[in-house]
Amino acid sequence: MVYTCYEMIRDCRADRPEGWAYFLAQYVPVIRTLLAHYFPEREGDTALIERVLAGLRQPGSSLFQSLDPAPERAFVSELRQRVLSAVEADRASVQPEVAIDLETLGAALEPLTLTEKQAAWFETMRYPDEDTGRMLRMSPQTAEKIRSRAADLVRGGVDRWRRSLLADNGPFLGQAAASLSTKDCLPAKAFFDVIDGRTTWRGREEMERHVKGCWHCLDHFCRLLETVDVLRASKPLSASEAEGYQRLLGIQPPKRPFWKRVAG
Ligand SMILES: [Zn+2]
Repeated sequence: MVYTCYEMIRDCRADRPEGWAYFLAQYVPVIRTLLAHYFPEREGDTALIERVLAGLRQPGSSLFQSLDPAPERAFVSELRQRVLSAVEADRASVQPEVAIDLETLGAALEPLTLTEKQAAWFETMRYPDEDTGRMLRMSPQTAEKIRSRAADLVRGGVDRWRRSLLADNGPFLGQAAASLSTKDCLPAKAFFDVIDGRTTWRGREEMERHVKGCWHCLDHFCRLLETVDVLRASKPLSASEAEGYQRLLGIQPPKRPFWKRVAG
C-alpha cells in the first residue's frame, strides 16, 4: 500500500495513529532542521521540539484543519509557518534596535530584478550566500555580489544601517509579508510550476510581474524554495527515534509498517 501526504493529513485530522506515526517519522527531521536554522540559540533545548509537536497535535490544530489534502511540499511550507510562529511567540517581540519595514525595503530594492530581490530576501531568512546560491541556482559569489549591491541600496534608503539589518529584522519582515496577501496573489502551485520547469514563458513573465511588486508572493516563493531544499536533504527518523516521539505523544501505531516513502 502506498501511503502519501494526502492520506497522512486525512488521518491526522481524524486523529488516527497511522497518520501521526507517519507525520513524526517524516517531518520531525524537517522541524529539527528549521529549529536549528532559525533558533540556533536554543540548540540543546530538547523540550522545544516536544512543545512544538504537542501544539501541532492539539485537537483542532490548524495545520491539519485548514489544509485541504495537500501535496507534500505545500504541506511542509505550511508546517514551517506554524513551527516558526510557535517559537517566535516565545521571543520578546521587541523590534530590533535598528529597524526597517517592508515599504522602506521595497523602495530601496526597486531597481533589482526578481531573482536579485530573492537573493536579498533570503538574507532576512538568515541564509548565507552558499545556501542562497544553491536555492536560487546561482554561485555563492553571484549571491554575494547581488547582496552587496542590495546592501548599498538599502543603506542609501535608511537613516541608520548595519550589516545585519535584514537578518535582524527577518522575523518582523517575514510576518509582515505573510499577512499582506491580496486577491491577485499566486497559489503555491504557480511557484512549483516555475521551480519544476513546467511553466510557459508567458506564465513566467506574468508571475514575475506580480511577484516583483508583491512581498507576500516573494516571501512565499522563497519559502517554497526553502521547502524544496530542506526536503531534499531530509531523511525519515530511525525506527527507534520514531518510537521515542510516538511515546511522547501517546501514539500507538499499527504493528506492521503500513507505508513506504513516496516522493511528491
Ligand atoms: Zn502577491
